[in-house]
Amino acid sequence: MKILFATTNEGKMREIRQIMEDLPVEIHSLKEEGIHIDIDENGTTFEENAIIKAKALRPYTDAIVLADDSGLVVDYIGGEPGIYSARYMGEHTSYDIKNANIIERLKDARGEERSARFVCSIAACFPDGNVVTTEGRMEGRIAYVPAGENGFGFDPIMYLPEYGMTSAQLTPEEKNEISHRGKALRAMCALLRTMI
Ligand code: IMP
Repeated sequence: MKILFATTNEGKMREIRQIMEDLPVEIHSLKEEGIHIDIDENGTTFEENAIIKAKALRPYTDAIVLADDSGLVVDYIGGEPGIYSARYMGEHTSYDIKNANIIERLKDARGEERSARFVCSIAACFPDGNVVTTEGRMEGRIAYVPAGENGFGFDPIMYLPEYGMTSAQLTPEEKNEISHRGKALRAMCALLRTMI
């Protein structure tokens, strides 16, 4: 049994292989399969975008196609950046600038008003066209100052009250245990186990 995961990101592939290691499947990335396509992610939710990506790859393979979409949702600013997380303030703007901007936009927010979460949706598209999805969330609050060197993107401003630190201060293993992507992947793994 073969899975094609719709990513070219090596870090994500490592995480996916680790979490799915006890499934009797081979997992390949787009790069490994030599597939280059530009997909217009024009959905309005993480789930819709994950489904769009998984379905777009359906004609290219006989494998089960998995695709994910994720981002940061900040309640105080109406759920921004949400599905536009990767493009927030422009794809080439540094995260030091993006993170400082979000902190600035929350300068009048205190305590619970700073609630935020990372969300990850994963879609699986089977050879017969059938689609299933899973979702994972990591809840926190936007930090008053960025902290931590691990992770990527918005991790330095995602303060996790139960841990007393940001997700950029967790080790990669600790983050995988509690992250949106880890949760969505483990849920997908459990679902696939019942289906293949
Ligand atoms: P994608 O799922 O690779 O499209 O990720 C979308 C964007 O959401 C990333 O470019 C980051 O800005 C943000 N994001 C998603 N997951 C994380 C995370 O675990 N830490 C920090 N930022 C994240």
